[in-house]
Amino acid sequence: MARCEVCGNDYEMAFQVITAGVTHTFDSFECAVHKLAPICEHCGCKVLGHGVEARGAFYCCAHCAHARGVMEIVDNADHVHAQPS
Ligand SMILES: [Zn+2]
Ligand SMILES: [Zn+2]
Repeated sequence: MARCEVCGNDYEMAFQVITAGVTHTFDSFECAVHKLAPICEHCGCKVLGHGVEARGAFYCCAHCAHARGVMEIVDNADHVHAQPS
C-alpha cells in the first residue's frame, strides 16, 4: 500500500512519478497534476500538455507567452509572418 502525498489516500493502485530524481507517490492523476504540473505564468492554468517554456517561465500556449512579451513563440504557421523578427 502506498499513501498519496497530496490527499493522503492509502490506495493499492497508487503509482510513482519520478521528477528530477525525486520519487513522488499519488493515488490519482488529479493529485499528480495538482503537485507536479507547471502553472501558466499568464493565465494560471495547469500546463498538462507540452506547453511552452520561455525565459524561465511556463506558458500554456503561444497567446499567453505573447501576453507576457515573448513574441517569438508561435503555435500557428499563419502567425509567423505577424511576428517581429
Ligand atoms: Zn491523492
Ligand atoms: Zn495560459
